[in-house]
Amino acid sequence: MNPVRKCILSMTGYVPGESADSTKIVKLNQNESRFPPSPRAIKAVEAAASALALYPDSSSRKLREAASSVYGVPAGQVMAGNGSDEILRILFQCCCDPGDEAVAFHPSYTYYSTLAAMQDVRYRLVNFEGEYRIPKHLDLRGAKIVFLPNPNAPTGTVFPESEVRRLIEAVPDGLAVIDEAYADFSGQTSIPLLKEYENVVVVRTFSKSYGLAGLRIGLCFAREGLLEQMEKVRDYYNLDRLAQAGAEAALLDQDWLKLICSRVIASREKLIGQLRELGLTAYDSGANFILVRFGSPERARRVFERLRARSVLVRYFNSRGIDDCIRVTIGTETDMDVFHKELEHIIKEEPAS
Ligand SMILES: *Cc1c(COP(=O)(O)O)cnc(C)c1O
Repeated sequence: MNPVRKCILSMTGYVPGESADSTKIVKLNQNESRFPPSPRAIKAVEAAASALALYPDSSSRKLREAASSVYGVPAGQVMAGNGSDEILRILFQCCCDPGDEAVAFHPSYTYYSTLAAMQDVRYRLVNFEGEYRIPKHLDLRGAKIVFLPNPNAPTGTVFPESEVRRLIEAVPDGLAVIDEAYADFSGQTSIPLLKEYENVVVVRTFSKSYGLAGLRIGLCFAREGLLEQMEKVRDYYNLDRLAQAGAEAALLDQDWLKLICSRVIASREKLIGQLRELGLTAYDSGANFILVRFGSPERARRVFERLRARSVLVRYFNSRGIDDCIRVTIGTETDMDVFHKELEHIIKEEPAS
């Protein structure tokens, strides 16, 4: 007898981008920050370490209050999670029965499909229209939950408020989850839409712009009635003391965040220009990464492998419609110079076709 649920047996587990600790590697494959987090966050983590014998505050109250002041939302409309991935899991467990339908777009963040499989939820992928726009005619009646990263990953596309509204209004029977993992690099947020729509949820992470991927912190903004229910399925002590202290201090140092984001944005725009000069298709991006198209899967894979051989790690997706692309995270100015130099070298050595 096999004790494992059928849906778990038949699902494939999520495969995250490669981890690598070596300082010799220019790690541009997981959209982590290549800049340090706020020095105040590091100090706060160190200070919190002295109280590790005690359980953390179950409700992450101080962190939620800091989020409330930064984002202008009542603290009762904020939940903290062990990474935004935990928040996404809680949303599934709280809102989806087996057999319900979840919807996401393609190409987009694929972890949603893993969560759906775990919960035995039917998962429907809707194609974007043209170059990654929300379809004009969108009817998602019956769907329990719909996911939209804004900016989108891995394309970098920013959806204007009008498109986000169209999405929200297309899901009358369920939640529209706006995953704002990269919103600090676009400057646009759907948090104000919480006042207008009952079915909007906004999810944020500290893993990208704040440079705290190693601490695992996410935030969820939603109406209180929904958060009260989500509370029931949250791990009681989901954020440890270090994470709560670090995230709170990072939030209260918005000057640091702005400084880092402005450097990433400047590097991003510079690299987009350089990639286009090399004759490549580089998509406009509102995130801390760029999707680059090479025209054929063979060429993209070869570039990926050659970069890797030169200690530059980027992301290749063997996925419909983007299997001729690589995604490169925007790191420090030095990282980007290395990436550009190595890529230029690889392209110049390509056999003439
Ligand atoms: C990185 C990422 C996440 C995961 O964030 P964590 O807080 O590290 O779990 C969620 N959604 C998208 C679109 C991401 O790119």
